[in-house]
Amino acid sequence: MLSDVPGLSEEEKSRLLHCVVVGGGPTGVEFSGELSDFILKDVRQTYAHVKDYIHVTLIEANEILSSFDDSLRRYATKQLTKSGVHLVRGIVKDVKPQKLILTDGTEVPYGLLVWSTGVGPSPFVKSLEFPKSPGGRIGIDEWLRVPSAPDVFAIGDCSGFLESTGKPVLPALAQVAERQGKYLANLLNKIGKDGGGRSNSGKEVELGGPFALQASGKHGNYR
Ligand SMILES: Cc1cc2nc3c(=O)[nH]c(=O)nc-3n(C[C@H](O)[C@H](O)[C@H](O)COP(=O)(O)OP(=O)(O)OC[C@H]3O[C@@H](n4cnc5c(N)ncnc54)[C@H](O)[C@@H]3O)c2cc1C
Repeated sequence: MLSDVPGLSEEEKSRLLHCVVVGGGPTGVEFSGELSDFILKDVRQTYAHVKDYIHVTLIEANEILSSFDDSLRRYATKQLTKSGVHLVRGIVKDVKPQKLILTDGTEVPYGLLVWSTGVGPSPFVKSLEFPKSPGGRIGIDEWLRVPSAPDVFAIGDCSGFLESTGKPVLPALAQVAERQGKYLANLLNKIGKDGGGRSNSGKEVELGGPFALQASGKHGNYR
């Protein structure tokens, strides 16, 4: 609506109708795709004057969907490009009221900015004196145990494999948490049946196979 105010310069119109999403994780990718779809299917029809000005740009420091497998990343890149999302690799170093500044000095004027660079470990998780996984999550071994505290297990977004396990980074997704929950329920039942239930008993029991995350779906999607 603002861009329809008479007397605006072409440049100002383009700025107002430039939607920028920062962060190419699942949320940023999903949002950019939906926004572009909304623009192509609805906005352009209702507000014909915006047709040549409105754009969606997704800015990501590395690769989009970096915690997912390669085929899914390629698929998402293709779909986003097809639906008109402009993908930019860059690191935002400053946000001004009407423009972003990237580390290479590029200025990106915007009318709408969606910041979607993910969530980090909470101050409480950070304060725990357990070894941490890359990314600062509670470090766990292949059986989801915190090695320095034998009766402590950690699952879900707060935890990640210790680097020493050589296991890949777990995507912070509900499906991972759900699978870990099921695995851990079985493991605790096994420990209980095998005479566990006492402090440190996890150490004396044969734990069986380690936790394994298997992707499902033709693109290896965990969602
Ligand atoms: C916008 C968005 C979209 C997403 N979409 C998807 C999707 O489509 N598919 C998918 O698989 N995943 C998705 N996810 C990720 C998914 O939500 C998380 O991976 C999942 O919720 C992790 O589960 P969790 O139990 O580890 O943590 P949470 O769901 O965050 O639960 C942790 C709980 O612990 C509580 N808590 C925290 N600290 C304390 C404390 N000190 N004492 C007591 N309680 C505490 C919190 O209040 C919270 O209720 C999405 C996430 C976001 C943000």
